[in-house]
Order: sequence, then structure tokens, then C-alpha cells
Amino acid sequence: MWKHLRHTHADRQERAMRLIDLSHPVDPGMPVWPGTPQPSFADISTIRRDGFAERQLCFSSHTGTHIDAASHIIEGGASLDRTSLDRFFGKGALVDLRDVGCPVIDADLLQQSASLSDETEFLLLHTGWSRFWGSDAYNSGFPVLSAEAARWLAASGLKGIGIDAPSFDEAASHHYPVHRIVLEAGIILIENLTALHLLDHCGFFLSVFPLSITGAEACPVRAVAILPPAHLSQQTI
Ligand SMILES: [Zn+2]
Repeated sequence: MWKHLRHTHADRQERAMRLIDLSHPVDPGMPVWPGTPQPSFADISTIRRDGFAERQLCFSSHTGTHIDAASHIIEGGASLDRTSLDRFFGKGALVDLRDVGCPVIDADLLQQSASLSDETEFLLLHTGWSRFWGSDAYNSGFPVLSAEAARWLAASGLKGIGIDAPSFDEAASHHYPVHRIVLEAGIILIENLTALHLLDHCGFFLSVFPLSITGAEACPVRAVAILPPAHLSQQTI
């Protein structure tokens, strides 16, 4: 009887949800946006000296993989702590833009490439740019959205849009039109994603919960994709 009830390790693995980390590690040596301070970690207590370890972590709210709230760009816009928790979790879809060959993703291209169902809550733009993470090339010339594409997305009813590049607006932009259009529509932005190639052809859920920081206009997140168990992977979720 017991034999019947117990699953083998392989069985369990086959049936377990698969979790994929889409975040860059936060580290003092990590790449940051020009002008953003480098993260620093300092020991407050150590196990050897104090019997326990505690560190002070110092970094910008836009460090590494992070989300932007409306209050990042819009005066009086909602901060992350005043955004409903359900806006940070939902069904995701990936759009493959790796072969675009031009730095601006326009509305036509996006509409042709993205298949959004009524159930899609997060759209992740897979540009392939995360391959430059850690090199000087990362923070300039990355793919961005046109204002037209941003307007189309703003009308989509999505909860969030993510990209594997440092921003949705050009590095030299001062008015941040894409941020403004999308954030005004109540959609959060997820920047500096990685490992999006692991999501190709899979249905997934996305989790991007921020810390509960008062007035947060942005926050680093552990972006995680949740894929169905291997034995269901052929089915869509
Ligand atoms: Zn940001």
C-alpha cells in the first residue's frame, strides 16, 4: 500500500512546477545605469565577532532587475506600496524580437509579433540584449519601443511589460515618452530581465513582487517565471 502512495523523486520532479529566475544578481560589482551609484554591502555584525551576521545593503531603487511604478515619472502617480498586490502576478506571454535588426520596435512590428490573448497579463519583450550585460555595450543603443507601440500597449489592459534591456526609452531621452504613456495607463514596467530564452514556446505565470517600501517609485525584484510541470508542458496554461 505504501509503495502505491509514495512518488519517486523522478515522479515528483516531473509533476513539480518549474521556476525560472529572470533576474540579475544584486552585487557590488554589478553593472548600473550611468549616474546610478554602485551597490555597496557593509557588515554591521559578523558571526565571528557578534554571534550573528547582519549587513547593511545600499543600492538605488532602480538597481538590476527592477520594476517602475507610475510615481517614477508621473507627479502624484501611484507608488508600488499603493499598488494592489495582484498587479505583480499573472499570466505571461513572450514576444521574440531578437531578429528585429533595428533599435526602435514600432507598433506594426509589435502587433505582428505579439500574440496577446484575452488572458495575457504580462508581455515580455525578448530582444536578446541581456547578452551585453556586464559589458560597456549594454547601456547604449539598446532596443526601445516607439511612442506608437507604447500607445498600443497602453490600450492592451496588461498589468505589466518587461524587457531584457535597461530601459524602454532611448538612453538620451529626457521626456521618457514610453515610460509616461505606459505608466499613465496603470501598467508597470520591468527592466533588466534576463534568461528569457528559457521561456520560448512555454506558457508561464510571472511573479514580480516588490518589497513593501513606503512611497517606492521602483524596486529591485526577483522576477520569476512559473512554468507548468514537465508532463503538462505541451499544454498551454
Ligand atoms: Zn527603472
